[in-house]
Amino acid sequence: MNDRYSKVDGARVLADLDTLRTFGAYKTGVHRPTFSEPHLRSLQWLAERLPQAGLAAEIDGIGNVLGTSAKAGPKLLAGSHLESQNFAGWLDGPLGVVYALEAARVINLDPTIKGAVEVASWCDEEGHFGHFLGSRSFVGDVTEEDIDAARDRTDGRLMREALVTAGLAGRRRVTAEPGRHIGYLEAHIEQGRTLEGANLSIGIVTSIVGIWQYRITFAGEQNHAGTTRMEDRKDAGLAAARLCVAIDHRFPGSCGPRTVWTTGRITLDPGAPSIIPGRADMLFQIRDDNSEAVERLETLLREIATEVAAASGCGVEVSRIRTGKPAMMDETFQRAIEDAASIFAAGQSVRMPSGAGHDAQLLATIMPAGMLFVPSIGGISHHWTENTGDADIVAGAEVFVEACRQLLRR
Ligand SMILES: [Zn+2]
Repeated sequence: MNDRYSKVDGARVLADLDTLRTFGAYKTGVHRPTFSEPHLRSLQWLAERLPQAGLAAEIDGIGNVLGTSAKAGPKLLAGSHLESQNFAGWLDGPLGVVYALEAARVINLDPTIKGAVEVASWCDEEGHFGHFLGSRSFVGDVTEEDIDAARDRTDGRLMREALVTAGLAGRRRVTAEPGRHIGYLEAHIEQGRTLEGANLSIGIVTSIVGIWQYRITFAGEQNHAGTTRMEDRKDAGLAAARLCVAIDHRFPGSCGPRTVWTTGRITLDPGAPSIIPGRADMLFQIRDDNSEAVERLETLLREIATEVAAASGCGVEVSRIRTGKPAMMDETFQRAIEDAASIFAAGQSVRMPSGAGHDAQLLATIMPAGMLFVPSIGGISHHWTENTGDADIVAGAEVFVEACRQLLRR
């Protein structure tokens, strides 16, 4: 090892994160939606720093920042995102980008290490204009028509207009060069309480769960809330409520150890105080990395819905409107993170699935991918109080850079 090159600079990592925090500062967090002025400044900031890591910088036609290396040897792609949810936290995204930048600074200038870390900041992971637009574009899954149709979900601005204002209209979109990268590594805050609750500092992500979504519609009979006797009612709203309770009772007997499910919306029609609902629409979601467990639950869901509908005098229709695709993280990548953690955070790591979506799930469709988590204080994220202790941030950087080194060496 060459001490002159191979050291992570924890103070530099913290200083970079602090700088990014000033772009769109909001309370102790940031407000940095995709293609806002502070977001564009953060992209520029990254592009200006990449040459310090021996990388040629490019901001492409969808707002991805990519740093590419001319160094000989294997290339590892690393990154995350720089935009935030509205009025949200300072680490969701930037942590992974700064770790990738630090890995590139440490590794790329070191002549004793063969190969390089290339850095990516994926645009719009937070879904202001679509979902995962930047990483999806890089894997070849975004068409020009998708961009034509994309609008900011907050203010309705067309993505095309935002690209013109940003000075990015007409630029090429960079897509993955087959065979260029040995894989993709991303660090992220956990956004949950698993690590903090177990007093651990590193999560080794085994998979990113898939999301299955269902629309469940009960058809009853709309009628007068005063004159219709209770035994004569066909109350679609009551049927929906009964279904929620039955799911709560019966799913735990059939689910996997980490399955989660949520009824995110119930709409009653016509939705008036003096009218028995004639129709109820439910949006229901299941997340898991195990498709078989979800298939089991889907069968159960259909069974329960039929029972509840019969008991409520209603008809029911259950349709799957989104089929989950769990992304499995590469075993070699998991082992590299584990080995790195055994050096810099011995006894402090655990393998765990990610319940949240990340750019790594898109990259995993075209190359081996891995993810590392650091703890979130109180499990809070997508809120301006989101935070991680300095010592955990620095330990995470040490583990991340060491994992990069090991992956390049293999
Ligand atoms: Zn994120």
